[in-house]
This record gives sequence, structure tokens and C-alpha cells, in this order.
Amino acid sequence: MTQSDLLEGLNPPQREAVTHAGRPVLVVAGAGSGKTRVLTRRIAYLVSQRDVHPGSILAITFTNKAAAEMRSRVIDLVGNRARLMWVSTFHSACVRILRSEIDAMGFRKTFSIYDDTDAKRLMTLVARDQNLDPKKFPPRALLNWVSNCKNELITPDQAIAKASGLDEVRAEAYKAYNERLRAANALDFDDLIMTTVLLFQQHPEIREAYRRRFRHVLVDEYQDTNHAQYLLIKQLCGDLGPDDGLPDDAPRITPGELMVVGDSDQSIYAFRGATIRNILDFENDFPGARTILLEQNYRSTQTVLSAANAVIQHNSGRPDKKLWSEAGAGEQIVGYVADTEHDEARFVAGEIDSLVDGGRAKYSDVAVFYRTNAQSRAFEEVFIRVGLPYRVVGGVRFYERREIRDALAYLRAIANPSDDVSLRRIINVPKRGIGERAEVALAMLAANEQISFADAIERAEQAPGIATRSLNQVRAFGQMMADFRAMVDAGLPASDVLEAVLKRSGMIDELRNSSDPQDETRLENLIELVKVAQEFVAQATTQDLAGQDDFEVVASTGTDGAADPGAELAGALATAQPEPDASLGAFLERIALVADSDQIPDAGADAGVVTLMTLHTAKGLEFDTVFLTGLEDGIFPHMRAMTDPAELAEERRLAYVGITRARKKLYLSRSVVRTMFGQPAYNPASRFFAEIPDDLIDWRRKESEVASWASGAAERTASARAALGSGTIFGTGRGQAIKKTLPTVNTGDRVLHSTYGMGTVVATHGSGDNAKADVDFGSSGVKRFALKYAPLEKL
Ligand code: ATP
Ligand code: MG
Repeated sequence: MTQSDLLEGLNPPQREAVTHAGRPVLVVAGAGSGKTRVLTRRIAYLVSQRDVHPGSILAITFTNKAAAEMRSRVIDLVGNRARLMWVSTFHSACVRILRSEIDAMGFRKTFSIYDDTDAKRLMTLVARDQNLDPKKFPPRALLNWVSNCKNELITPDQAIAKASGLDEVRAEAYKAYNERLRAANALDFDDLIMTTVLLFQQHPEIREAYRRRFRHVLVDEYQDTNHAQYLLIKQLCGDLGPDDGLPDDAPRITPGELMVVGDSDQSIYAFRGATIRNILDFENDFPGARTILLEQNYRSTQTVLSAANAVIQHNSGRPDKKLWSEAGAGEQIVGYVADTEHDEARFVAGEIDSLVDGGRAKYSDVAVFYRTNAQSRAFEEVFIRVGLPYRVVGGVRFYERREIRDALAYLRAIANPSDDVSLRRIINVPKRGIGERAEVALAMLAANEQISFADAIERAEQAPGIATRSLNQVRAFGQMMADFRAMVDAGLPASDVLEAVLKRSGMIDELRNSSDPQDETRLENLIELVKVAQEFVAQATTQDLAGQDDFEVVASTGTDGAADPGAELAGALATAQPEPDASLGAFLERIALVADSDQIPDAGADAGVVTLMTLHTAKGLEFDTVFLTGLEDGIFPHMRAMTDPAELAEERRLAYVGITRARKKLYLSRSVVRTMFGQPAYNPASRFFAEIPDDLIDWRRKESEVASWASGAAERTASARAALGSGTIFGTGRGQAIKKTLPTVNTGDRVLHSTYGMGTVVATHGSGDNAKADVDFGSSGVKRFALKYAPLEKL
């Protein structure tokens, strides 16, 4: 690629951003103005025009999917050697660093990564140990509190020192939770970032090695970084001043070049601790920084842009951006008011059909967005009925299914014997006669002797009151786990270990011999997991070969004037270069990270399907046709935003993100009646409708055309609300609206629970007021409910 090829298709400010050298640079611009394109081109430009070694580039994206795309795009532009660069999410980058360095922080390199479900399990145990009232201190709320601390880099001791009132209890729970994580040699997601920052702060020599290595750091979606992530970037390429922890006379390396891109109007993760402060303070945080503005939008028609601009202008305290498009006015936005959510789904399906039949769209060009995962159901029902191919992003995910979590728990307990949570999950899966009593006896032994659960299994005969029969089973289980570990030590690839686990543990046989039709699906899922492992192993081996070929490329730092890292850099690269790694540990790491927030299907796999996703997952993506649905006050904007201006502003940014995903055609729809938790809810039209100039909208069905039964009921609700003087008569909490008795259910029925989500009835007991049902919620397990009271809805 020549220089002019690389700069082709860029406007002047985009070019400046791509070719800029030296001081830190911030690119701020509205949606669709080419921020991500600039970042990608810049990497290609660095490699091919400034002779930057790909191994000295670190690019951070928001999702794994975005990372994969950016990576392949750069490889297209400059060839295979680009494989040596790090393009990943913050989490993946930190895992990679921690796998090499974490022993300095007192963990072993085989550490486990606890996902959200594991973390909640652990917090539940902690709360129980501390005799906390789960009503006052729900484990989920405790975890959120802990997460906020970690995002602000507050350690348990610091939290305890500054806590007062109820927070004292939370801070103690934080401390206990972290101690148990450490004992299990495990980190949760927030720890990945926090531990890396602390590592760099406490071990300047390690930090210096990475500063020397990463001469170029690039960050996409900077508006959604939190404080810990900001500190990480600062440690990697900021000016640390005299407090850098190095001896006064130690040589200092010039910080690497930093480019961040973002849009404060698209900040939608405040609830996870993201702060646009990072964008606003960029010039203070990185002195001498330069800011580049992009103003032309290349994605959308002027109509779509005008709608987006009109909505976002209702947020106060933001600089006005002049985003414009050359794409022409394009088609009007289509507005539709449905009677019910099923009608809304039918309308969407009908429109997609006619677009596709008329040759005006492919299924893959179309996306349907909604505010919360549960809203996908109405669309799914209709799409299945009319045979419209679709894929839901998020929702009950593959890696959250019970059988998958069981299999992964085996692998994790094998890779990391200290991982008590995983080990206890599978000690009796499938059932092998190690009952709860035996498990408790082992747990007591572990607690008394201050040893891990795995060690307690080794010494099971000392467990207080353990029955002989259980003892034999525990020994057999311990032996089996030891055999699996021997496979890992012998260097067998992850897929082999997984297959051995599934066979020898009896998981496969149990499912094969079952007559429950769901078990067939479970078996298929496990087979799919084996496939995932095989692909991983195949990929790991080929990629590393490519890496080896290219590794001859000699590092050069170009013109950044660094205190010549030369040979040292090459050395740093060589040591930090990962070994060919098809191991179990590497596989688990991959899984832990893809099982995180983003589950966007691969480009290849979704060529012919409509994409259904929440607005949050849609960030950074674009589609020719977008349906933005459920535009009702109380749904979108969300209930919480009704009383809180900050929340409302965030919802508005989410609307801005949603609208600006559309290239050509945008649909906005709402439904007058929506069933929520088994009860009809009547919500007024979203205020975002009123914020869009009416001449941009072509109304296919208006409020005035709504069926009389629906509008009548809605009016009565509205006057009841007015009489109550509050925003809603349904309260703000989930489940509060449920008063109705569930009709009878039968084994096999699909039901929706307000907390556990979708499940399947596996057994029923009693009748009338005493009717109960056992419901399998996959990863959340099987629960029994009195139908009279349970917040269940039959699907
Ligand atoms: P978002 O804020 O949604 O993340 P963005 O600013 O990252 O958007 P991109 O996704 O990089 O924007 O670009 C939006 C679309 O415009 C893409 O399809 C991209 O290929 C195209 N594009 C960007 N710059 C140009 C240009 N100079 N000429 C033609 N097309 C461009
Ligand atoms: Mg982008």
C-alpha cells in the first residue's frame, strides 16, 4: 500500500488524524463521521508508512467483535505481519498482561476469570457468611457497589476506611469477597483492569517494560471508558511526572503516541462507571494534546441525521455539533403506533418482508433494536411464525447455559485447583453420590485447615462425619480430576481435555440416556462447545505459525524521538510474544472474554438473517434499515429516567446511538398496550417522538388510529395517573405490577419470570391455589414456584 492509497477516501481532518505524529490526539466527532475508520487507517499507516513495528501497537476497542473487525481490516491493508499488533478490548489486553506478570501481585498465572454469574455466586456465599439480610443487602446490589469501587480503584481497605453507615457493611463484604477471590486464585472482570493498574503503579519496572513496548496506543469509544481504564492508559503512555516510582537517576522513556476517539453524545455506560469526564478532561490529563473535530457524517441520510440531532439537542450542557451529510435527504422516517407489542412485531415483520421481496434489502441489512432483552420475545414469536430468519444478540447466551457452564467449571477446576466455586459446582455433576452433606463436610475441613477445597478432597477421610460411601466417591472424583490435570501437564490441547472430561465425567452418557427432550439440545450444545475448542486449537496453531514467520521483522520506532529503545524494544517484544498456545488455560481465557458483554454473531454466520439486539449492543455498528421499537415513556426512556434528569440524558444518548445506526431507512414504532410481567401496561408515547420534527416522519398509523379498546384503556390509565400525581401506576420496581394468578401450566411450557428470565416447566404439583411448578431456568437452575404468587408469565 502506498501512502496515497492509505489516505484515499479520507477528508482533510481525517487525514490529519491518520498522519499526525507526536503529542497525544483526541478525535471528537458525532456518530458515523469516520472515527473508527480513522483509527483503523492510522494503524495501517503507522505500519506501512512510519515503519512502526506491529508488535508495538496496542489498539483498544469496545467489543471483541469490533476488535476482530479492526484486526482483519488492518491485515487487509498491510498484510499478515499486522497480526503481531494487539487489537483487543481492555479486558483482553489486561488478561494478556496479567498472564505474564500477575505473580508480582500474589496470584498464580493460572488464575480463573469469574464472570458475572460466578461473581454473584461468590457474593451470595459471602453475604451468607456475614449473616447479611438478603432483602437489605441483595448480593447483586453488593456486587454493583464493589464494582463501583473497583472502577474507581478503591481497595477494600480504603473502602472500609472511608465508609459510614450501611456502606461499612458493604465495604466489609467487599473485603471478604476479595479475600475469597484471592484464595480461589480468581479475578472478576473489574479486577482485570484494577489489578493491571495496581501492578503498574506498584511495580514501575514492569510498567516501564510495557511503556517501552507499546509505542502507539489507540482507543475507540473513549467516551465509555471508566476511571480505572483511564488510569491504565495513563500508566501506559501518559506523562507520569516525578511520581513515576522510578529512581531519580533512572533513564526515562518518552511516552508512546496516544490517539483516542469518541463522542460524548454516545456515552451510554454510566451505569458501569463510564465517565465522559475522560473526554472532557483529555487536554488536562494529557498536556499538550491536540483535538481534531470531524463534522461530516458518511453513514446516514440527512433525514436520519436531522432526527438524531433534534433529539440530542434536548440534552443540556453539551457543545453543539454541526454534523452534516452529503447523502441527500433520503427517505422519510416511518412512524407506527401499534395496539399491542404483537401488532408492533407483525408490522415490523411485514415491512421487512416487503423490503426483501421487493429486492430493496437483504435480511442482513436489517436490524431491530429495543431497550431491554425481554422485548425480543414478541418479535421472536412473530418471526418464527412467519418464517423470517433472525438472530438475537445477547439474551440467554450460549455460555450461560447450564450444561456449558458445567463443562467450563470442570475445565476451570482442572486448570486452577484453587477455584473452589467451580469445583463445588461440579463435584456432584452428573450425580455421583456426593451429596450436600459430604460437600459441607469437605467445606468444613477446608475451612478448619485453611486449605483449598481441592486439597480437602485429597484428605477427604479427615472430613468431619463423612460417610464411607461418599468417601469412596470423593476419592474416585479426586482421582479423575488428577488424571485430567495430568493430561494438561502433558501438553494436550484444550479440545482433547474437554472431550475427555465430557466422556469420563459421565455428562455425555447422562444426557444420552435421558428421555427429556431438552437434554438432546443440551447434548448438541456440548458438542458445539467441543467444536469451539477444536476451532480454537486449530486457529491457535496456525496463527502462531504466521506470527513466527513474521517475527523476523526488525523493530523500529520511527521518528518518535524516544530515548532509543532499539535493541531493548526487540527484546521486550520477544519476551512478550506469546508462545503457540492451544492449552486449556488459553482456551478458558478466550471463552471468559467472549462470554462477556458482547455476543454479536460472526459476519459470516449472519449473512442471511435479521439482527435483533438491545440498543446498548448496537453501538459502533451500522445497518441500511433500522427499526427502533418500544418507544414508550417507561420503556424507552426507561422507567428510572422518569424522575432522574441524569438518567433521562443517558437514555437520550442511547436514542441518539440507535437512530444514527441507520444508513438509509429508519422506522420508529411504539405500542399502546404492552404486557409486562403478565399484566397489560399502558404507557404514553415516548417523549423522543415529540422531539423529532414531525415533517421528518411519515406516519403509517397514528395515535388517533389506535383501536378504541386500547386507547380507551390508555386514557383511563392516564387519568388514574394524573389523579395519583405520579409518572406511573405500576411502580418502579420489577415485579411490582404482578398480581395476577398464572393460568395452569403443563410440563414443557415456556414461561417468563421477572427475575430469572425464560424457563421451561419440568414438573407440576398440586392444583388450584396450591398449584406449584418446577421451572428450569438453565444457568440459574431449577426453581419451584407457587403459581398463585409467582411473577411468572406463560409464553
Ligand atoms: P460511530 O460514532 O457510530 O462509532 P464512527 O465515527 O466510528 O461512527 P465509522 O464507523 O468509522 O464512523 O464510519 C461510518 C461510515 O462512514 C462507515 O461506513 C465508513 O466506512 C464511512 N466513512 C467514513 N469516512 C469516510 C470517508 N471519508 N469517505 C467515505 N466513507 C467514509
Ligand atoms: Mg465507531
